[in-house]
Amino acid sequence: MENIFNYIDGQLVKPVSGNYLDNYNPAEGKVYSLIPDSDKKDVENAIDVAKRAFPDWSGLSITERGNILNKVADFIDRDHEKLALAESIDNGKPLKLAKSVDIPRASANMRFYATAIQHFASEAHIPDDQFINYTTRKPVGVAGCISPWNLPLYLFTWKIAPALAAGNTVVAKPSEITPMTAFLFSKLCIEAGMPKGVLNIIHGLGSKTGQAIIEHPDTPLISFTGGTETGKRIAATAAPMFKKLSLELGGKNPNIIFADCDFDQALSTSVMSSFANQGQICLCGSRIFVERTIYDRFVKEFVDKVENLTVGDPLEETTKMGAVVSEPHMEKVLSYIDLAKKEGGKVEIGGNQIKLEGRCAEGYFIAPTVITGLNHACRTNQEEIFGPVVTIMPFDSEEEVVSYANSTAYGLAATIWTENLKKAHRVADKVKSGIIWVNCWLVRDLRTPFGGMKQSGVGREGGWEALRFFTEPKNICINTK
Ligand code: NAD
Repeated sequence: MENIFNYIDGQLVKPVSGNYLDNYNPAEGKVYSLIPDSDKKDVENAIDVAKRAFPDWSGLSITERGNILNKVADFIDRDHEKLALAESIDNGKPLKLAKSVDIPRASANMRFYATAIQHFASEAHIPDDQFINYTTRKPVGVAGCISPWNLPLYLFTWKIAPALAAGNTVVAKPSEITPMTAFLFSKLCIEAGMPKGVLNIIHGLGSKTGQAIIEHPDTPLISFTGGTETGKRIAATAAPMFKKLSLELGGKNPNIIFADCDFDQALSTSVMSSFANQGQICLCGSRIFVERTIYDRFVKEFVDKVENLTVGDPLEETTKMGAVVSEPHMEKVLSYIDLAKKEGGKVEIGGNQIKLEGRCAEGYFIAPTVITGLNHACRTNQEEIFGPVVTIMPFDSEEEVVSYANSTAYGLAATIWTENLKKAHRVADKVKSGIIWVNCWLVRDLRTPFGGMKQSGVGREGGWEALRFFTEPKNICINTK
């Protein structure tokens, strides 16, 4: 059984209390490692050292900071196979997916911000011959970075990299459900010569460890990715303390398919956008709206394709879908399938837990599930399920589908399928989402602003947005006469 340690002041350390939590392998339904059940004391220790490390780290040149981030990225690349295996075991995702998406993106995040900071300049205005205005952008201090379990190292590094590149020091908490790659990452930071105290990684429960990071008076920056309910609690704590807050929250993303789309492309990408990572990507489309004239054909061919999605051992090459992340999460997803049936939905395929044989006999597997016959306003179509469950509904007009798409409390992502350019622009303009993909899905350019509208979040990550968030601007105005 591998014990996970906290990473504080450049060292791997046990939690002060000596208490640990079980960490499960979701494909086997078994505890396979222990993680620190850290409390306020561990968080205070980490914030103390991060505060002490701040002057030196922020005083380094951007090249020196970037070199260290790039070195960590080199080690991620070197350990690609090991990290991908660890991510798959910890999360239940197919190893193939961890190898092709999660780990390469973690390294890309580090490299992107190691170099982005070199190009980050602030505004200067010389509007007349008397006054010169310029702006400085300085790092703020200790950033608290909290991430979820669905894309563990991918989203963890997406916060840490810009925070560190901008010159802040960091106290970070990965999800207690998927802590392993963050632990391995802490070892890589030590190897890469990350100065002591610059990055500190504390493991533990959200309500205890996470809450202690948010409540601490010396974390003026909070960057959080997770559920909308957790986001509300974090905002309630951080807002009266006037912390800078970035919240990346839940979604209930619409996938709008017009009859004039490239049918085959829309169909195969929609299967992927429904079930990739077991539907546990905040950007997965979970409500598919199909123009009525192609609705029957789409449902039939969609179900045919879903039938071929192999649910299996995440470590097998042929597996398309692995385990969902935990037993409570599996129960939650199954309870939504029950709700859908009660609301009058017809399960076209799936709808049940899958029992595999051998090593995965006790794992948390759910069949990819397609539901039709529901109204856009029912709970199944309004609440985030975050699992391998999609609904398909017909529509007749553009106005109607835009109103369905915008009918939830969320506004994270949307996908539009049409070959009509004018229609694509019109609909993209009207759908309230932080990102709209037209005839594609999950294409992420790290330079663009990323985040959600409405209850999907506050603020944006990515590109300059993250570097703006992790710095404080100051306008200096000089009278030259
Ligand atoms: P979660 O909100 O339960 O937990 C996220 C993180 O917050 C974990 O590290 C957890 O320990 C911590 N946490 C929990 N309570 C806390 C508290 N009171 N104070 C501080 N930290 C606390 O979310 P989850 O179940 O891990 O992740 C799934 C959710 O994340 C889904 O809603 C999904 O849509 C969302 N998500 C959003 C994005 C995005 O970019 N918008 C990306 C990925 C996931």
